[in-house]
Amino acid sequence: MEKIILTGDRPTGRLHVGHYVGSLRRRVELQNSGEYDKIFIMIADAQALTDNFDNPEKVRQNIIEVALDYLSCGLDPAKSTLFVQSQISELCELTNYYMNLVTVSRLQRNPTVKSEIKMRDFATSIPVGFFTYPISQASDITAFKATTVPVGEDQLPMIEQTREIVRKFNSIYDEVLVEPEVLLPENEACMRLPGIDGKQKMSKSLGNCIYLSDSEEEVRAKVMEMYTDPLHIKVSDPGHIEGNTVFTYLDAFSKPEHFEEYLPEYANLEELKDHYKRGGLGDVKIKKFLNAVLQEELSPIRAKRAEYEKDIPAVYETLRKGSEVAREVAAQTLSDVKRAMKIDYFEDQELIQAQSEKYQQ
Ligand code: ATP
Ligand code: MG
Repeated sequence: MEKIILTGDRPTGRLHVGHYVGSLRRRVELQNSGEYDKIFIMIADAQALTDNFDNPEKVRQNIIEVALDYLSCGLDPAKSTLFVQSQISELCELTNYYMNLVTVSRLQRNPTVKSEIKMRDFATSIPVGFFTYPISQASDITAFKATTVPVGEDQLPMIEQTREIVRKFNSIYDEVLVEPEVLLPENEACMRLPGIDGKQKMSKSLGNCIYLSDSEEEVRAKVMEMYTDPLHIKVSDPGHIEGNTVFTYLDAFSKPEHFEEYLPEYANLEELKDHYKRGGLGDVKIKKFLNAVLQEELSPIRAKRAEYEKDIPAVYETLRKGSEVAREVAAQTLSDVKRAMKIDYFEDQELIQAQSEKYQQ
């Protein structure tokens, strides 16, 4: 069986370091590993509109931002198909048919949707489109017969929903759809990177992000205001690692080489943590180290972005071409789905023949 990746992001803002460690960095590695037959990366504008329907300009403006972030992180259009969800109308048709396979109570149980509804203050006025977005996500994944979906932890319930739809579809109709596997980050800190406020997951909607395109100075300022340990007041106080955002970020980003280069008095992160726990290590020192680590990771991305920003029409052209390729693939799946669901009347000569014989007797 072919190995196929599908994943993507909502164009509700520029991409942040949570996206990077949760999914983007992995995608680039997988792309360059050469182990995958096809890679589809989707800008999920139709999904973004489910909770931003009254702000289409926001979604429109952010298509290019996400595309620039993709390219600057190393997604390569020669190896990965970059496309825009709304341009593939076949995805809506699939969603429509999958809706028959999911119950309202099943959607209500989805923990990610539950917490997102809370976060967006929808209360009782939940748009139907938003409520059903897990079904639309199943269409995105299955349209490309994706075997592998590299995402952050918040997406687990979505992939589970997709797998259920696939099983139900295949058992009722025919073995057409492929059950995808989720690929979570290996490192715990990367599964759900907290925001700089330390409270919740870094998310565009919460405004607690370090963006991949932030300037050197913006990154430094955000690191310096980052949430640490409220009980660690004097340098000599023993500190806590758990829930300390700076250490979570170091878990996600730091490598042994960084210690050699920027903090040679410690062999590794464990030693740094031990010192912090004992007391005698100040927040400013660890923040300066984190800043150095982040700048090292982000400065090549920033430089690459500046190059791509010089030719914006070319970036749109990449998306247009990618969308064309994606559409062909989705159309093939839709045709397989319609055949399995017995709604392919005009292509089925046997049906026409049989009906004709019935009436000729
Ligand atoms: P929005 O607030 O509009 O939902 P978002 O910041 O949650 O935006 P998405 O576009 O919903 O971003 O997520 C895109 C991908 O990035 C998903 O695979 C998701 O799991 C991953 N991701 C998003 N935020 C984080 C995070 N803080 N840590 C790890 N992975 C993340
Ligand atoms: Mg999200």
